[in-house]
Amino acid sequence: ISRFWQPISNLGNFYNAMINAMAYLERIFETLDEEVSIENLPGAIPMPEVKGAVEFKNVGFSYEEDKKILDNINFRFQPGSSIALVGPTGAGKSTIINLLSRFYDVQEGEVLIDGINIREVQLESLRKQMGVMLQDTFLFSGTVMSNIKYARPDATDEEAIEAAKTVCAHEFIMNMPNGYQTEINERGTRLSIGERQLISFARALLADPKILILDEATSSIDTRTELALQRGLQGLLVGRTSFIIAHRLSTIKNAHCIMYVDNGSIVERGTHDELMSARGHYYKLYNSQFSVMEAG
Ligand code: ADP
Repeated sequence: ISRFWQPISNLGNFYNAMINAMAYLERIFETLDEEVSIENLPGAIPMPEVKGAVEFKNVGFSYEEDKKILDNINFRFQPGSSIALVGPTGAGKSTIINLLSRFYDVQEGEVLIDGINIREVQLESLRKQMGVMLQDTFLFSGTVMSNIKYARPDATDEEAIEAAKTVCAHEFIMNMPNGYQTEINERGTRLSIGERQLISFARALLADPKILILDEATSSIDTRTELALQRGLQGLLVGRTSFIIAHRLSTIKNAHCIMYVDNGSIVERGTHDELMSARGHYYKLYNSQFSVMEAG
């Protein structure tokens, strides 16, 4: 797990207790708000309904003084774009995601959603319109059904099942002893990582955010679940802007744009084919990590 997600993991116990007490009404970010030092500016406005255009304009950022982590990051994407972030560990991928979901405020430049500087909006109103999926999928004790409905407790069972079908989670759920009524515990025992991720896809689809952030699981997954994840993810991404710290070749190849991050800068960007012909960093990454997988 990258350091970025630490605040979320630390909240685990408190969070479960609260979930039980409050009948799933809280969303993860409302909890997080208390942990994070970001504050609304005086006169901050509620974020209007998000369409999904995302822009970084000359963004520079450091966690600690004198240690610049991101330098002059620029990009702009239309609503519905899917962006894969790749590059070595420590390059700054999670930090980009961190700034987009406003875990931290930028020190230089601007992060804009639909042309609005996200510093100028109320944090909660922004975050509840973004979906974040972690490597370590957050499940709690309860049925599969209640886990799917977690971000939208008022959804009907039919809507939840429809969401599960769209992300290819329905089949494995129906194979469980009690289907959607199967009880799982918070660590998701009896579920594989891939299955947990499928549940989180269904949950995200039901919540229907226009901007989706995914830190893709690195662990190996059986072929069948892998295929379901591949197809499920494509179903989930339709009509949303997505930023994915991507580890699976299929995800990367399907992205509208791959951004290769190295040492705090975006050093290459383009589609898989474009970056392969450029024979640069991405090409090397592909040859060292992915070409074998693909052949196999
Ligand atoms: P990636 O996601 O590409 O692996 P990160 O964005 O997590 O890279 O990290 C970029 C750099 O920022 C690394 O040098 C990392 O050590 C540093 N870093 C990440 N989180 C923090 C933090 N909370 N405090 C200080 N430094 C951090």
